[in-house]
Amino acid sequence: MKILKTITETRAEMVRLRREGRSIGFVPTMGYLHEGHLSLVEACRAENDIVTVSLFVNPAQFGPNEDFDRYPRDYERDIRLFAGAGADVLFFPERQEIYPADYYTYVEVEKLSGHLCGKSRPGHFRGVATVVLKLFNIITPDNAYFGSKDAQQAVIIKRMARDLNLPVNVKALPIVRDPDGLALSSRNVYLSPQDREAALYMSRALINARDGVHSGKLETVGAVRQFIYNEISKSSHAEIDYIAIVFLDSLEDAPNDGIVDVHNTLIAAAIKVGRTRLIDNFILGEI
Ligand code: AMP
Repeated sequence: MKILKTITETRAEMVRLRREGRSIGFVPTMGYLHEGHLSLVEACRAENDIVTVSLFVNPAQFGPNEDFDRYPRDYERDIRLFAGAGADVLFFPERQEIYPADYYTYVEVEKLSGHLCGKSRPGHFRGVATVVLKLFNIITPDNAYFGSKDAQQAVIIKRMARDLNLPVNVKALPIVRDPDGLALSSRNVYLSPQDREAALYMSRALINARDGVHSGKLETVGAVRQFIYNEISKSSHAEIDYIAIVFLDSLEDAPNDGIVDVHNTLIAAAIKVGRTRLIDNFILGEI
């Protein structure tokens, strides 16, 4: 695996690979890898000649009171795991390489960025869209892989690619979970046993709500919302940030008295356990 730190050498490598006629796949990450990340690398390897990955904890997507400084980092382990998973090229830039002191340009995907996590994390998706567009411009991938764990992010990146006519196929892959149902996240390392217990109420609420929708027990949007609310509220330790039932294409709220649209719905929740904010979701339809 080639480890490239500068934009200049990464561009040169990508130009060389393209000249050889190789298809390029790309998996952007903030590191502290788990099986969720590695599932994206695996899909990327199956569908492209060259697997490119990036490791960059993007300061632009963290709010002033968020966990940028204490975001978990273990670069040596990440490099080992990326190499073991078959990555060919790792783009691993320093902060100044991506955001020099006189950096002024940001990308805003309107509307979609204002819902769900965008409400509690103003500016978050502006930071995400900006860094992903920059990475796309540097790597020039044919295919890029994102996790449905961050469903809103995947929807936003897809829309950015469409709106800005980016020559990249954006793919959203399923959520990888621990055997107990908790969605894998780099932030799970923050969780005490008590926090983790509380977090499981959210995962189970969503998984059971999905089963309820599929079996016909939960028909209306309101019934699903109430069910998830009741289940998460059984934990006295989990503080609900939002429970959202939205259309997958617009991320606008689905009407409470409407029947759940099984082809175009995102059911998502965010909670705080202790100091840690966690999200989870399930998708009815395709991003
Ligand atoms: P991050 O390092 O948190 O920015 O995540 C990098 C990529 O991995 C994003 O596209 C995430 O959506 C994806 N990802 C994170 N957690 C999971 C998971 N549990 N299952 C699948 N993909 C995930």
